[in-house]
Amino acid sequence: MNRQDFYKTLGVARGASLDDIRKSYRKLARKYHPDVNPGDRAAEERFKKISEAYEVLSDPKKREVYDAYGTYSENFRPRPGDGRGFDFSGLDFSELGGSGFSDFFSRMFHGGPEPPRPPGRDLEYQISMSFDDALNGLRTQIAYDRMEACGSCRGSGQASTERAGNCPLCRGTGKLAQVRGRARVMTDCHRCGGTGRINRQCPSCSGHGRISTPARLVVRIPAGVQNGSRIRFAGKGEAGLGGAPPGDLYVVAKVTPHPFFERKGDNIYCKVPVTVTEAALGAKIQVPTIDGRSLLKIPPGTQGGQKFRLRGKGAPSLRAARRGDQFVEVRVEVPRIADERSKELLRELAQLNPADPRAGLAR
Ligand SMILES: [Zn+2]
Ligand SMILES: [Zn+2]
Repeated sequence: MNRQDFYKTLGVARGASLDDIRKSYRKLARKYHPDVNPGDRAAEERFKKISEAYEVLSDPKKREVYDAYGTYSENFRPRPGDGRGFDFSGLDFSELGGSGFSDFFSRMFHGGPEPPRPPGRDLEYQISMSFDDALNGLRTQIAYDRMEACGSCRGSGQASTERAGNCPLCRGTGKLAQVRGRARVMTDCHRCGGTGRINRQCPSCSGHGRISTPARLVVRIPAGVQNGSRIRFAGKGEAGLGGAPPGDLYVVAKVTPHPFFERKGDNIYCKVPVTVTEAALGAKIQVPTIDGRSLLKIPPGTQGGQKFRLRGKGAPSLRAARRGDQFVEVRVEVPRIADERSKELLRELAQLNPADPRAGLAR
């Protein structure tokens, strides 16, 4: 009646060591255990077969019988003359159907040191802000959804023990009667591991242990953040499973560009037009800064494209105590002249300064 290939079922070679058999069994049992696959009949069948194969192959005596005859069952007796020189005298059948399997199984699932669980996932929240908000800092409330530990089951994903039900397979007895020929053998129920009880999924979180929950958080964005800056809020990410620590929340700054100022790091750049006269004679000009207007002195003979530094007029720094600088690039605006008198003056100016600006160019 039992013609499955136990080795195939466990995915091991004929000569596999007990250790390999145990390893392979653990792996498969974890995958196909009914608690992991609620309602999956195929998985349940598979799990039964795996358990059956393991029960035989993990016992050297039973395995010997199986290897010799290609089958094994509790009431199996070789007929006289069927023997292939195999000696049954040392076999003890009395412990068959004992609790070895379920003991092992419950140790595997419930006992021993648990591997450390990974923390909850980190979350990212993008917050849009103006150029000025980024410079001055910002305090605002954000709303987002995160997975939090389910309150009903405290993150276990299982209904409280009072709600656990009797195992439907053994009706809560933990034992199953198996008829093998004339013998009626009691074995530990494989569905509940002999406990007679089945944990039910928590109805609130459907067994996930966590629920997506709307969260609100007042965040303080420090002065000086830049576009793309990530500010970490420890422990405000998703809840971990099974008591693992929560992840972090990263608020990512999305800063609207400014029409006049451009920011690179802690420095601020801008372009300011000057007149030909200002450039030629030098001048003190008013330039916009993030603090308001500031006086910039340009020397006589200033050329277009020349840059001037206003120390400490840049953005506040997240790393250093001092502020960055502002760089002002000068653009010389050439007057559009229509009247004859001005043209005359310019020609006169050219005669007084007969320089050739292209003299140094190649060829
Ligand atoms: Zn729950
Ligand atoms: Zn049961």
